[in-house]
Amino acid sequence: MSRIDPGFASELKKYGARDFSACFNCGNCTAVCGLTEKDANFPRMLIRQGMLGQKEEILASRELWLCYACGDCSETCPRQAGPGDYMAALRRYAISSYEPTGLTKLIFKSNPLFILFTLLLSVLLGFFLFTLKPDHEVARWLFTILPYDVIHNMGLVIFSITGISVIWGLATMTLRLTRNKVKTEGSKNNIWKALTEVVNEMATMNRYKTCDIEEDSYWKEKPAAVQPWFVHWSIMWGFIGLLVATVLDFMLKDPATAIWWPSRILGTIAGLFLVYGTSLAINYRMKKVTKAYSETRLADWMFLWFLWIAGITGFWLEVSVTFSFDHLLNHLVLLVHTIISMELVLLFAFSKFAHAFYRPLALFFYFKNGQGNK
Ligand code: SF4
Ligand code: SF4
Repeated sequence: MSRIDPGFASELKKYGARDFSACFNCGNCTAVCGLTEKDANFPRMLIRQGMLGQKEEILASRELWLCYACGDCSETCPRQAGPGDYMAALRRYAISSYEPTGLTKLIFKSNPLFILFTLLLSVLLGFFLFTLKPDHEVARWLFTILPYDVIHNMGLVIFSITGISVIWGLATMTLRLTRNKVKTEGSKNNIWKALTEVVNEMATMNRYKTCDIEEDSYWKEKPAAVQPWFVHWSIMWGFIGLLVATVLDFMLKDPATAIWWPSRILGTIAGLFLVYGTSLAINYRMKKVTKAYSETRLADWMFLWFLWIAGITGFWLEVSVTFSFDHLLNHLVLLVHTIISMELVLLFAFSKFAHAFYRPLALFFYFKNGQGNK
């Protein structure tokens, strides 16, 4: 067991936790959460650990990543302790603790720093892009101020830091999760069964579907296509599809400009899902349709808007390439699209985006340990 740290509660508030110290341990939140099980007692257990400052237990928790932030628990908490927000804050804390540079800590805690960092990164990426087109008029002007090699190498260093941070974060999390021996009543699964369960969850979001199913839930009568699980599914698979299409486009080059080419078809379908999912998510947060959407931090807004802009500018470029529109504006849109897309990839290790690889890893160990076996 780790040492107790009473100052940890105020630290967590910087990551977005509210008055969780008001919690009187009634267990309502755990009872109402559709994802808790006998051997996955959250959020109540994690709230106790947060109050005591048991950081090691929190960072070694698989249960932390089982939560889909549906907000059911916050709706029913008699003390307004915000257990749903608390879980999201813990995940921000965990992401910043696994990541080795300390950058995530700074940008999660300070909005001005986050904006400054994002703007600086945009400028650097813009410069870097011009190194890929050294004959461009703007590039030639740029190189009179900063030499080509300096800009190019800076870009490569930034990409390398991101790659190393992702690998480091995954390795750190794996070490912590494997050290945490959770006793279960079910039998353990082998690697393939656990992997199959993770892939199944990513493909179907079956666990997420079990959230928000009470009779009085806002989503109860709504069609599946607008429910939070499908919005999440659309954003996730839209982004993955676009990444794959971009890699294929890059490898195939010329044939990819034809609209019927498989990578273009994949890109179009994935882009539609991405724009659809992000539009709904932004709309829900603007209207604060349920408690889960009532508090949105700047980092979450920027993440959603970046994804949305990447999708919309992608369609703009698709139309202009298909119909051979040649206008200065298209070059500007291309620059914005490329910078935003690269920022998303670079912020992968340093933002909420990191949950895309931490959640599957935690789920893998959860299933492998036999937890979640019905
Ligand atoms: S967070 Fe609220 S619902 Fe959960 S145990 Fe504490 S007081 Fe009860
Ligand atoms: S936010 Fe939803 S999934 Fe997360 S602990 Fe609360 S009820 Fe469970």
